[in-house]
Amino acid sequence: MMNKKFIKGLSLAELKELCEEKGLPKFRSEQLFNWMYNYLVTDFDEMLNLPKDLRSQFNEEYILNTLELTDSKSSKYDNTRKLIFKTTSNHFIESVIIPDKNRVTLCVSTQVGCPLDCQFCATGLMGYKKNLTAGEIFDQYGNAQRISGNEITNIVYMGMGEPLLNFDNTVKSLSIFSEELTKGISLKKITVSTAGIAPKILELAETGLKCKIALSLHSCFDDIRTKIMPINKKYSLKENLDAVAFYANKTGTRITFEYIMLKGINDRIEDVKALVSLAKKIPSKVNIIPFNSLEHMNPSGFASELQPTSKSKIDEFVDRLRDNNVTVLIRDTQGEDIAAACGQLAIKY
Ligand code: SF4
Repeated sequence: MMNKKFIKGLSLAELKELCEEKGLPKFRSEQLFNWMYNYLVTDFDEMLNLPKDLRSQFNEEYILNTLELTDSKSSKYDNTRKLIFKTTSNHFIESVIIPDKNRVTLCVSTQVGCPLDCQFCATGLMGYKKNLTAGEIFDQYGNAQRISGNEITNIVYMGMGEPLLNFDNTVKSLSIFSEELTKGISLKKITVSTAGIAPKILELAETGLKCKIALSLHSCFDDIRTKIMPINKKYSLKENLDAVAFYANKTGTRITFEYIMLKGINDRIEDVKALVSLAKKIPSKVNIIPFNSLEHMNPSGFASELQPTSKSKIDEFVDRLRDNNVTVLIRDTQGEDIAAACGQLAIKY
């Protein structure tokens, strides 16, 4: 038997090439695109406007589904739902569906594990296993749409992994969402979250894909940020801030600065001042995130010292920012009971 290839993840241009190679008319590529990325079918036999023998041929040559839903857990307190998928290489990844007032956000993973070791993060503790393909990134959305009854309105690339260290597959998945043919979601509703890979932020700006960017900031001071996120040694705060300023300017988007509140580390008065001055320079908003303790994972070193800032202190911090006209959102600790912080559930597998 011939080795089957993956078809999910191919861009419209690649599907056109594939149809050309097979001597098929060009419109077949658009039909394939629609079935895979709009109608989200899981079987070639559902592609009803393709001739039966062509469906059988594709079935013999290609794999359509890249992920298998293995488990799903809903939070007792809110509607957050975590999905665990198994890849065809038998790795486990997770996605989270997060309903909010008038939108439903899906958080997708881009890698199995992560090569970075942000000290507040469970995925970092697991190490890096592999990059996800564009098909596997897309299929988290495809599956979540089916499970949620087509309710997903926004996507954040914020699950396991650093999207910009899996640059090609991240960009390819974005390019699928950016196609005019794609109905469900547009790049305006997609945010790529990065720990700060400055040269790749610049490269993303040059692709012309105008998704939003979130930078995991967590401190405005290099020495503290390096302790929280060792990648800061390689790409400094200045390099990353210059890169996101360029990105905001080039794409006309606002940057989100993610800020996880760590007691005594980044919740001081000098941190407020530095954040205010940063927000004045770059079109942005600040996303304040309460810290989920990692104690149950027995972290060592600096990670073991991390404690959450109290709720009252967070409120005080946010009020100070708002008094200085900084746009601030406070993220709920949604789904704490199902370990919604990235990577915590997949690690159990
Ligand atoms: S926060 Fe993101 S980039 Fe940092 S270790 Fe976790 S998964 Fe990787």
